[in-house]
Amino acid sequence: MEYNRLLKRQIIKYLAADIENDERFLAFLDAVSDSYDAFERDKRLSEHAFEVSEKDYLDIYSRLKNEINIRNQSIQKLKETIRNMEPGAENQILQDGDNLLDVVNYLNLQVNKRKEAELAMRVAKEEAEKANQAKSEFLSVMSHEIRTPLNAVLGLGQLLLRQNPRPDQVNNMQVLKASAENLLALINDILEFSKINAKKLEIDHVPFNIRKTIEDIFQAISIRGTEWNNTMSLDIDNGIPHYIYGDPHRLTQVLNNLLSNAVKFTRDGQVELKLTLEAINSSSCSILFSIADSGIGIEQDKLEYIFSPFAQASSSITRKFGGTGLGLAITAELLELMDCKINIETELGKGSRFYFTMETAYLDDGKDQQVTSTIKEQDLQQAQVLLVEDTPFNIMFTKQLLEGWNTAVDVAENGLIAVEMMQQKKYDLVLMDLHMPVMDGYTASMKIRAFNDHTPIITLTATVSEDVKNRLQQVGMQDYVTKPFDIDVLFLKMERVLKK
Ligand code: ADP
Repeated sequence: MEYNRLLKRQIIKYLAADIENDERFLAFLDAVSDSYDAFERDKRLSEHAFEVSEKDYLDIYSRLKNEINIRNQSIQKLKETIRNMEPGAENQILQDGDNLLDVVNYLNLQVNKRKEAELAMRVAKEEAEKANQAKSEFLSVMSHEIRTPLNAVLGLGQLLLRQNPRPDQVNNMQVLKASAENLLALINDILEFSKINAKKLEIDHVPFNIRKTIEDIFQAISIRGTEWNNTMSLDIDNGIPHYIYGDPHRLTQVLNNLLSNAVKFTRDGQVELKLTLEAINSSSCSILFSIADSGIGIEQDKLEYIFSPFAQASSSITRKFGGTGLGLAITAELLELMDCKINIETELGKGSRFYFTMETAYLDDGKDQQVTSTIKEQDLQQAQVLLVEDTPFNIMFTKQLLEGWNTAVDVAENGLIAVEMMQQKKYDLVLMDLHMPVMDGYTASMKIRAFNDHTPIITLTATVSEDVKNRLQQVGMQDYVTKPFDIDVLFLKMERVLKK
């Protein structure tokens, strides 16, 4: 319908274009337009009235009355529509009086309020998005900045331990190394909680030395445990294979969380970490992990609740023991990703026991394979190794390590140099970093495979997602070792590809 021209102007001035799709609002505008027209007709008629005869006057008078009625009805209809649109609008304007302008003013006010609210919402949304992005960036920058020097501490700690330290230094070095590892795990914890939240977490499947991992965790936690006068004990079933497949880092996170809690909530008592072999066949085994303490225990009705993020059994816990309530949430999620289920037995005042069973493949039969870290002489029989790596610390550390295993090491500082060196000299093995300037590890491997299909390439990588694994295969690499690497795992993998 054609709107009254005054109303048309107001529509252009105050209303957004998308209002045209709102049928109820259009009906409402029709009613407003009628009222405007009626009002203008009234005005014209009154002006005219002075110039006409009495008969005409009566006639006009009755028409005027009629118009006023129509106008009042329109205003009532208008108010009714407003009430329907905004049920809460018990405004004075809507209740009494028949002033059309009041109603229009009221409407303008509402339209403006809506616009302001929309704007505020948009601004708030943009700010939240910006803050979230800043948080992610901050986390990733900080974790990188902290991880780089920490890797140096970790690597050098491992090296020092292998350079015949004085017996009185060994324990300190082990504690230093294990604590650095804990710190690294903690940083990763924070990062990973956000990843878990976003369901972006992947579980690794690599061989690792389970005994050594457990002993390191236990040793680092023991220092804290004994501070509260607790007796700490570790019991690893002899039948458990030395190298099992799994995610050493996530398992460490899980055990660290459970042991930290056990230690935290126990005074003058006992904390025990126990690994029992439940079953074993030629390729896989199942291990029961149990973390028991004689601490304060947990009320039965709190058991469900303590696995929720930021949940603690009582608010006094934070005051007395600290903590964030994140530990068990991460633990349960990680175990679920590893196909394990966490169980609890607990009694208030007596203590708690957290336990889970892990089924996994293993690498050796657990009997004739020695733990390599206890063997002093490891020999790769003068293998010619090309180390492709750009970080000076990693070069220094890995070169020393490899030379200790009786290999001859050449270093290429990026992928391009590596390709050229491979064309000039015969190597038995390539250790290839992935991220390097000039040419990355993927491209270099592809170029090497174009003229050499036999020299094994092992990549050194910080992350191994399924995506990365697929790419490694596509470019012709044989295997990978995750950084910061377990020295024994690196040795084992190098030894294996060299034998072939
Ligand atoms: P945090 O330890 O940071 O508070 P967690 O998620 O690890 O967070 O634990 C959640 C809550 O579960 C703790 O606050 C505590 O109330 C309870 N809890 C966990 N482990 C134990 C334990 N071994 N003994 C007693 N209470 C525990």
